[in-house]
This record gives sequence, C-alpha cells and structure tokens, in this order.
Amino acid sequence: MEFAERIKALPPYLFAEIDRKIARKKREGADIITFAVGDPDLPTPPHIVEACCEAARKPENHRYPSYEGMPAFREAVAGRYERDFGIELDPETEVVTLIGSKEGVHNIHFAFVDPGDVVLYSNPGYPVYRTGPLFAGGEAYPMPLRKERGFLPDLEAIPAEKAKKARMMWINYPNNPTGAVADKGFYREVVDFAQDNDVVVCSDEAYSAIAFDGYRPPCFLEVEGAREVGVVLDSLSKTYNMTGWRLGYAVGNREVIEGLGRVKTNVDSGASQIIQEAGIVALTSDQACVRENVKIYQERRDFLVEGLNRMGLECEKPRATFYVWMEVPGGDSMAFATRLLEEAAVVCTPGVGFGEYGEGYVRFALTQPVEKIEEALSRMEKVV
Ligand SMILES: *Cc1c(COP(=O)(O)O)cnc(C)c1O
Repeated sequence: MEFAERIKALPPYLFAEIDRKIARKKREGADIITFAVGDPDLPTPPHIVEACCEAARKPENHRYPSYEGMPAFREAVAGRYERDFGIELDPETEVVTLIGSKEGVHNIHFAFVDPGDVVLYSNPGYPVYRTGPLFAGGEAYPMPLRKERGFLPDLEAIPAEKAKKARMMWINYPNNPTGAVADKGFYREVVDFAQDNDVVVCSDEAYSAIAFDGYRPPCFLEVEGAREVGVVLDSLSKTYNMTGWRLGYAVGNREVIEGLGRVKTNVDSGASQIIQEAGIVALTSDQACVRENVKIYQERRDFLVEGLNRMGLECEKPRATFYVWMEVPGGDSMAFATRLLEEAAVVCTPGVGFGEYGEGYVRFALTQPVEKIEEALSRMEKVV
C-alpha cells in the first residue's frame, strides 16, 4: 500500500525509541513516573459532568447539531470574553464552536493556505502548527523561540521573501512547551506585522486560564487592531480538565471565522450538543473550580522547580501553563530524557520533539500529584 505524499512528508515520530524503553521498563516491573503527558490528571468538576448527564437525556440532543455550534454555547463563550477581558463579541458571526481546538488549528489552514503559501509558526511548539500547513500544501516556516527573547519570536528576523509569501502566523501564549507568557507590547508588534504583510494571525490561547501568583495573561484580542487581522483559539480542555470531551472555540475576525466555518461544514457535523450543554455550564458557572485547579498546579510547580534548582538544574517558575521547561546539562535533550528514564524511571519530554529549536531543553508536565513529584525528585537526585 502506498501512502500519499502528505503522509510521507510528515515529520518523523521521534519518541519511538523512548516509547520502546518505557514499555520494556514497565515489563520489568519498574514504577514509572511520567511527566510527559500534557493532559490534566484531575477529573472534570462534578457540576459539569452532571450537566452532561442531563443533556444526554434530552431527545433534541440526539440529533445532528448545527455546524457552527449552539447559539447558547456561542453566547456563553462571548460572555466569558466580556467577563474576563471586557471584549465584546457577536456570538453569531465572531464565535464558532470547535470539536476541541486541535480540530480548528488543523482545519483553519484549509481556509487560507494555497500550495506554495507560507505559514509562520513558533518553534518549539504544538506539532499541528507544522503539520496543518503541510496537509494544506503550504510551507511551514519556523519562528524560533529563544530564551534570550523570553521565548517570544523575533518578527524582524523573518526573511522578507517569507513574510511576503506568508498567509498565516501561529502564536501561542501562555506557551506550550516553554511556559512563557506574552505582554500586550508583543501582541501590538504582531498586529503591525500582520497589517504590513497581510497575514492572518492565529493566537492559540489554550492555557489562558492556567496562570499563577495572581498573574492574568492578556488576550490577543485586547490589543487594538487585533480583530482586523486574526482570531483566538481556546478550549475547555485545560481550563476545566475536559481534554476527553473535545470542546473548544475560535473567536475574533468574522471573515476568518467564516472561512474556518466553511471548511468545517464540509469536514465535520459540529460538536455534540450534549457536550456543548456541559460546556455552557462550565463557562457560565462560578469559576471557583478553575481557581482550585490553578492552586494545585502552582503548588506542584513550586515543588518541582525548587527541587530541580536544588539539584543544580536550571529552570524558572513559569507564570502560566502547567509546564516546566528545563535546560539540560550537556544540551542533548534526547540523551538526558533517556538517562532519566533508564536510571530513575522518570519520564519527561525531550524538547527536540517540539521542533528543532526545542533542543537543549526538556518539558515536565505538572500532571502528577506532589507525592509523585517528591518521589521523582529523590530518584533524580541520585542520578543527576
Ligand atoms: C492542549 C493544546 C491544544 C488543544 O487542545 P484541545 O484538547 O484540542 O482543545 C491546543 N494548543 C496547545 C498549545 C495545547 O497545548
């Protein structure tokens, strides 16, 4: 069987070797502690689960949903932007429901990228920023995220001929995997660049609600002119521990929302109304469950970072996201992760897996309880 060129062109899966080693260690009976998965370990809050159960009993929810999402869900999303950022959105034209934001991250390329077009994307980053353009026949051009610049891309370093051919740009703050955050000054630069180069900006804000020490990450749409050039994609996955439910949304520029909607009409049949009803309850109820969640991540963050620092390993406390991005001694992220696995049965993700500019770092996801973090740290102390 011959695969299509687009499948053959996919970046190689880098973790096959590590996965084999994890499987072998498990067979040998090792108690593996993994910090590799960006998937909350805590369950969805009960009031949201309850809303889903109720919604499942309603016959009207057993039929096809609408393509663009239930009006009540899109109103709940608009309500969230009003409440959190003072941004007014028209639920009808400036909001579209997504079946998890990953779906939107992929599909939006098909609305704006023709063969030969360039998509600028941050690297290291979420892998779909790179595969989406490839699937659409475009070229994914990396914008390196470097420590010296606080893991913000240097827009002036983008070659003129790439900027000219660029149709889209991906930014992602709070950032996975680096944990970096962006200020409004950076977003203003992005708006200027987008206006000068006629680029659609996609701001992936999946971690917009996971922020610590009272810090509140700005939203791209808060900046003047942002709504003329782009959209924000966000999700209920990380905010409400709902990765398994598959519910997200895109908000912002109405032409971009329309373009994405037109692709989706031809690809899927919308998010389940049962799930959207649960999402409405999540977005419109008291947000104490989110604050509770953040408190747990913050405690884990402090525990892990302070422990790593005590061992002489270099990393900072992230102001947002549930990731710790750590520089590895020697600079070889795959070698470091392999050693940690072999000698301490602790799994982290080699930075190179998020793109070539992630080399030199590993990512720890704070998706383990403090006791496990403690145990992992004491094992690591013996090998580092
Ligand atoms: C988790 C994540 C997403 C996607 O989440 P969905 O579950 O598909 O909504 C998107 N972008 C980044 C950077 C993520 O880490």
